[in-house]
Amino acid sequence: MVYNFNAGPSILPKEVFEEVSRGILDFNGTGLSILEIGHRTPLFQGVLDEAIATAKELMKLDADHEVLFLHGGATTQFFQIPMNLVNEGQTAAYLDCGTWGKKAIKEAKLYGHVEVVASSKDKNYTYIPKGYTIPRDAAYFHYTTNNTIEGTEMFAIPETDVPLVADMSSDILSRVTDFNKHALIYAGAQKNIGAAGVTMVVLRKDILGKVNRAMPGMLDYREHIAAGSMLNTPPVFAIYVCMLTLRWLKNLGGIPAIEAVNTKKADLLYSTLDSLPIFRPTVVKEDRSKMNAVFVMDDPALEKEFQDLCKAEGMYGVKGHRSVGGFRVSLYNALPLSSVEVLTQLMTQFAHKKA
Ligand code: PMP
Repeated sequence: MVYNFNAGPSILPKEVFEEVSRGILDFNGTGLSILEIGHRTPLFQGVLDEAIATAKELMKLDADHEVLFLHGGATTQFFQIPMNLVNEGQTAAYLDCGTWGKKAIKEAKLYGHVEVVASSKDKNYTYIPKGYTIPRDAAYFHYTTNNTIEGTEMFAIPETDVPLVADMSSDILSRVTDFNKHALIYAGAQKNIGAAGVTMVVLRKDILGKVNRAMPGMLDYREHIAAGSMLNTPPVFAIYVCMLTLRWLKNLGGIPAIEAVNTKKADLLYSTLDSLPIFRPTVVKEDRSKMNAVFVMDDPALEKEFQDLCKAEGMYGVKGHRSVGGFRVSLYNALPLSSVEVLTQLMTQFAHKKA
């Protein structure tokens, strides 16, 4: 038995792995592998159409929002967004809440004036700043809903008239939220959407066409919309895995159903951590992520001992990000509650033995 707490690429539903294996050998009874069909065939068009339709349905998107599947990871969005949305000399507002947001800020500075409205850097990004003001003339306001490395999550959507842009890479589809309040949402697929190699971008068309710079076609959202995410050969296999994962979530009852499970998993993990003084969660309670729980021990030797124990018990990915240390446990949609039960039992036994 193995338990996969990896931060991304990460666990996907078993049903998806089974269906994908069949699709590699014989896609939908065609005798062809999903890996050898043309992207401009009705076969693949059906996969892409279902992926887009299911994403729209799960997120309850209105008719103004388009869903795109693009290349280049969320990291490409760090520069594609300012390239498409902010003119030179104009302001883009950003929240500085962690490693990924910081990278987005760095790239945005290549295209416009960046105003960082608030930061939690003073406390190693262990909380979400509140009570900041977003400049009304900003082209957009960018924030990261879940800070994968530091383990904080923003549960409230910022109140502003400025177009909202959100990096939802690590908590998209994990809890009910009003996706339509956003002008642009992006997420690398490799956590809650599917396989690595594709990025989902949701955007409202009316925010486009307002910058006067020339840009390559591959970086112009309008061209991707016009081409239906097929401006060039799309990552066919990765999109297929996304389609199956989205279908799995829909059959399960959609976002409200998975949110109930996600809340149970996070509650069990954090309540266990809070009850065992040997472990110390690093994030303030109200901002603790339900997707990535980060915690440390005060004794590095004990940390190593517990990490080794997790490994011996078949647990993958319990180690913290190299920039933070300690432990990080990822609780994405496909992780079953039973995995958290096994981990928390191990924590409790370990703590009692060391007490
Ligand atoms: N933003 C967030 C919140 C992330 O967690 C990650 C990756 N873990 C990225 C951006 C970068 O994604 P990618 O590797 O797909 O470029």
